[in-house]
Amino acid sequence: MENKDYQVLLYYNYVHIEDPEAFAKEHLQFCKDLELKGRILVAEEGINGTVSGTTEQTNKYMEAMHNDPRFANMVFKVDEHDGHAFKKMHVRPRKELVTLRLEEDVNPLETTGKYLEPKEFYEAMQREDTIVVDARNDYEYDLGHFRNAVRPDIESFRELPTWIQENKHILEGKKVLTYCTGGIRCEKFSGWLVKEGFEDVAQLHGGIVMYGKDPEVQGELWDGQLYVFDERIAVPVNRKEHVIVGVDYFDSEPCERYVNCANPECNKQILCSEENEHKHMRGCSHECRVHPRNLYIQEHDLSREEVEARLEALGESFEHQEA
Ligand SMILES: [Zn+2]
Repeated sequence: MENKDYQVLLYYNYVHIEDPEAFAKEHLQFCKDLELKGRILVAEEGINGTVSGTTEQTNKYMEAMHNDPRFANMVFKVDEHDGHAFKKMHVRPRKELVTLRLEEDVNPLETTGKYLEPKEFYEAMQREDTIVVDARNDYEYDLGHFRNAVRPDIESFRELPTWIQENKHILEGKKVLTYCTGGIRCEKFSGWLVKEGFEDVAQLHGGIVMYGKDPEVQGELWDGQLYVFDERIAVPVNRKEHVIVGVDYFDSEPCERYVNCANPECNKQILCSEENEHKHMRGCSHECRVHPRNLYIQEHDLSREEVEARLEALGESFEHQEA
């Protein structure tokens, strides 16, 4: 029987925090005392965190937070888990909770898109005059996304406004729907869209996480899995059907397994099967495979001969030059 005595919490709240540095220091101690692990960002504009711990520890944390008037209404998304989902506990002060680096910052408490609950989003998504824009990064989209959602070609959130400005025609005259993991990025992004002059902008309230938990929609119209920023990496969303959309980096076969390139200087996230991981020594390119610090070669303690044999099987050698 699987042991599910742990919980992973995901939460955010846009609320004024007077001295983020002091708050972060105190909060870190508080989390450590509770023996939680995870990552929390604190800014003058609010808090954004994800932590893991036993059910008892995480329940205590939620209770304590709700007793603070600033976080009294904060929504926690709770997932059961079989252990910690992080190795350490960090609380970091930041300038922004999500990095958009806009010339003129958006305050979601003043300007943001309309909130749609999962059922409303599910219905809105299927209308002809609607366009669904994924507000996440390309590698998140590639593991799973709403069916027919637009995939902005971006590696980090701060590139999103420029991408929209360059691809404005896709959105013009449409009702725009946005979504992200837990909702925090859309609070700002949809607010920015409103400021940019888009008239009908709505966001998925509670993000994909709440959409998957909703008893009525049960994650319907979501394909693939949800990318999460903890050790789980991928979690299911659609409880009615599971369509795999991820493809293996090496052979384009259906795949939902993310690994990091073994070259620590590259560290690129690639979807790949266990078989291909071994075949390619977890290197995303020839250069990464033969990199002197290749972690795969270290972990598996491969000899020079063994590495050469793997390279040969790929039609490569140490002297191999890529065209
Ligand atoms: Zn690489």
